[in-house]
Amino acid sequence: MNAPFLYRCSDCGREYERSQVTYLCPSCSAGYRPGIPLPGVLSARFDYDFIRRRFRPSEPDWELFSAVEAEFYPPFPVGRTPFFPIDALGRHFGLASLWVKNDGLNPSGSLKDRASFLVVAEAIRRREDLIVTASTGNAAAALAAVCAAAGKKAVIYVPAAAPPAKRLQMKVFGAEVLPVDGTYDDAFALSLEHTRVRGGLNRNTAYHPLTIEGKKTAGLEIFEQNGWRVPDVILVPVGDGVILAGIAKAFADLREAGLTDRVPRLVAVQAASSDAIHRYVHTGVYRDARNPVTCADSISVRTPSNAHGARRAVLESGGTSVTVSEEEIRSAIFLLGRLTGLFAEPAAAAAAAALPALRDSGGIDPQEQIVLLLTGNGLKDTETPLRCLQP
Ligand SMILES: *Cc1c(COP(=O)(O)O)cnc(C)c1O
Ligand SMILES: [Zn+2]
Repeated sequence: MNAPFLYRCSDCGREYERSQVTYLCPSCSAGYRPGIPLPGVLSARFDYDFIRRRFRPSEPDWELFSAVEAEFYPPFPVGRTPFFPIDALGRHFGLASLWVKNDGLNPSGSLKDRASFLVVAEAIRRREDLIVTASTGNAAAALAAVCAAAGKKAVIYVPAAAPPAKRLQMKVFGAEVLPVDGTYDDAFALSLEHTRVRGGLNRNTAYHPLTIEGKKTAGLEIFEQNGWRVPDVILVPVGDGVILAGIAKAFADLREAGLTDRVPRLVAVQAASSDAIHRYVHTGVYRDARNPVTCADSISVRTPSNAHGARRAVLESGGTSVTVSEEEIRSAIFLLGRLTGLFAEPAAAAAAAALPALRDSGGIDPQEQIVLLLTGNGLKDTETPLRCLQP
């Protein structure tokens, strides 16, 4: 059984029953057109006393924290990925306690499976057979996979330039793929138009509030796998800022439910060219990334849909935001590979790429427990490292 919940608007604070809303706060999003960060992103507010009374760490019932009842879950296990120390990489950077959460081991190879899983569960609950998304690649591959397992139809808008392995995944899983001769931001706008005119459930990141709830499970797992302790710092590669918001939501929920009294500092890591959230964190003024071209395709975005929520998550956690260069991303792929045996796709390697500068600037303390969120598997994009790198 899950805990009762309401959706609360992160801008105006209005609360809604889940039967009243599907995507954004109706009041704050009234004039919304694609091209700006989403207004009125909804956040699930659980009955935390209900969770407090029922949750036992000796026999954890994580369904209590779920915004969709387990009876609607698709027959497609996701998550439960390994969490372990990577001492050799820690030693390389002079860090005493460096850990990794390997979400590249999800069924479709990225953390996006968690969001797609929960949105498809919601589609099952609502008896909706068609699910539509825009994606840089991984969200689409994840949605296609979960839809295949659940017998649902996936329609996907994806930039024609997405890595071939990701496009192949979508095809193998039987999705209808509509290549967009343009950017991810163009795909985002087209997919919203699709559901507005032709129906179906839209899975766009942050637009559907369950994408944040789905990604939250990575944070809940880190807490449990870390022996019910909160790590000091978690490094998160950031595109739209939904993984980051999901990790923040996990620890906010755990704190409200009385399971911890502290939260980790969150470090947002962006590619230098795709830095809208980074600049927003540091200046307080939102501006689009001008030309978000990076080998880390999964974090390439001009207008991050969850810019407001991501900025809040970083600041409220006491964390910070940094950018990494293409060269730093490239060398991090090989360093991770050589010292840990883990193969990260470029976006996922960005988190590791941020470590030396963070250590030198005092953003992290060498004695702290630091967690890298490895968001995607390197086999999803074998061309970028081969093309860009001299190992
Ligand atoms: C989507 C993705 C990210 C970024 O997640 P956002 O929620 O868009 O910030 C990072 N790494 C990988 C591998 C991804 O697929
Ligand atoms: Zn609102």
